[in-house]
Amino acid sequence: MDSSDKPHFLDSDAHDDLVRILKKEIKALKSKVISQDIRIFEMQALLQSGKGLSNILYLNQLLDTFMAVVRERYDVVNSAVILREDFENGEREFFQVKRFFGLDDHYENNLGKREPLLLFRIEKNNGLLWQLIQQGNVISVRDLQKEPRFITAWERNQLSVLSSDVWCPLIKSGEVIGILTLGEKRDGTQITESDYAFMQELSSIATTIIDSALRYEKNKRILSNIQTLYDFNQNLAEINDFKILCKETIQSAVKAVNSQKGNIMLLNRNTGKLELVMAWGYIDEQTIEGLNTGKIETKTFEIGEGVAGRAALFRKPVVLNNREEIPQIGEYETHCICSVPVLNGGQLEGVMNFTNKIHIEADGNAVLDMLGRFTKEDVSLLQGIADQSAVSLHKSRLYSASITDRLTGLHNSRYFEDTYYELVAKSLVEARPLTLALLDIDHFKQFNDRYGHKAGDYILKSVAQMFQDIKRGPQDHAYRYGGEEFCLVFPELSAEETLLILEEFRQKIEAHEFQYENQTLKLTVSIGLAECGLHSRDARTLFNLADDALYESKRGGRNQVRIAKLEGQTVRSA
Ligand code: GH3
Ligand code: MG
Ligand code: MG
Repeated sequence: MDSSDKPHFLDSDAHDDLVRILKKEIKALKSKVISQDIRIFEMQALLQSGKGLSNILYLNQLLDTFMAVVRERYDVVNSAVILREDFENGEREFFQVKRFFGLDDHYENNLGKREPLLLFRIEKNNGLLWQLIQQGNVISVRDLQKEPRFITAWERNQLSVLSSDVWCPLIKSGEVIGILTLGEKRDGTQITESDYAFMQELSSIATTIIDSALRYEKNKRILSNIQTLYDFNQNLAEINDFKILCKETIQSAVKAVNSQKGNIMLLNRNTGKLELVMAWGYIDEQTIEGLNTGKIETKTFEIGEGVAGRAALFRKPVVLNNREEIPQIGEYETHCICSVPVLNGGQLEGVMNFTNKIHIEADGNAVLDMLGRFTKEDVSLLQGIADQSAVSLHKSRLYSASITDRLTGLHNSRYFEDTYYELVAKSLVEARPLTLALLDIDHFKQFNDRYGHKAGDYILKSVAQMFQDIKRGPQDHAYRYGGEEFCLVFPELSAEETLLILEEFRQKIEAHEFQYENQTLKLTVSIGLAECGLHSRDARTLFNLADDALYESKRGGRNQVRIAKLEGQTVRSA
């Protein structure tokens, strides 16, 4: 520039022009520098935030930090991160509030009920809003007048709950894993479009880290689930008893998914209905006990009826995670239900049902988790447990049927043979007493002839029930040995002690008025006892001695209890 070399030759107009041009240039340069400065600052901020975020392994903490960085940058009053649910919802996909700031922690749902904000969820659909979310660009969801831009989506999903102006989709490998929502700025204005780029970049860094944290937590759960299945399988191999097997199974399953309670229902092939066989959970023991002993009557389910029936019908897990879809039965509030089928080689054995989730607190107490729901991993773990238990349940159920007398529900003679010799052997090894009692109903043939076989069956059932009631606990064993003959084994009791119990029982039967089809029926029983060690150390001989004592009772006029005779003595009666 020649002229610039000789400014003193310029006239004053030209000089002014030049100054104007230069001022403009400087201004342009300055603003360039400023914007570069901002850019550098933003890049630094990004780097810092990214670094900060990537050090956080725990999802909640990560989301809180992410939101804090964004809020500080834009000075917004509220924010929320909604994440894709990994709950089991069939075909539907929901996004649920995971963390939030500056919002009321409760909201009023469509039914006018106040619910925790953490239960607020929106369903993904094909509407305009979701089309945009999937594009991944930051979206302004309210205009400057604070009116919603996507009215249908707004109303359907109650989006005013989130009080947001701007949504920033969190996209990983083309899939929406969540959305960051931001409210207005503290000065009441909205974040401007020129600010979107930074937000977008920060979000994409955060998304990668959030995705990793989600995967980390998921893998941790899967790993622990594999361990649970492995342990369960090991444990299963050692259990033969049907009841114990059921209890172990339901207990493991309930604990594995932190469910509040669960039960196993098996298919009764005679009635075609699902019947409860075992329940367990973090509820009061009396209720559990009542359910498992039949003292509390439970509903049976038809195939296809209710959640349990549907899992049986479709042979697939059925999950209800939405409280509004769950019929509230009984006194307990139900937040979520999961039923999985128990299939043995494609054949339906039954179902396992689970309700509600719990937190285990530091002191070991279980507290209902009202926000907890059954996740996809929970469901696959439960199905894994159900699959593993199916074969054992089937086998032990067959075995249980083969050792149970169908009319009375007592163990049968086969089981007596299986257990009697062992019980006697144990008594001898431990040098502890054991008494065997044989019972026979008096003149039962006549009874049948007079009142009919059905009345006879009713009596057999009733006597078996009364017989069960004199058992002190699981240590005592009652069997239906033959037609109208029963036997009882009392470990730890001498014949003398047993005599007292059974004499009382005999009197009770004698006094009892059996009611059958408007008739009052009466009968008596005869009983013979023999004590292991005292009368014989040989199981077979002991049985014969008890049988002899029973015969003596019959011969002595029936309706009496007698102890076997010791060598050289006569049989004693009560
Ligand atoms: P005692 O006092 O000597 O024992 O006479 P009793 O008639 O009871 O003895 P007996 O052994 O002659 O008859 C047993 C009867 O028990 C014969 C049979 O009809 C009846 N009984 C066996 N099993 C059943 C059953 O499952 N249901 C019914 N109703 N009766 C049965
Ligand atoms: Mg008999
Ligand atoms: Mg008889």
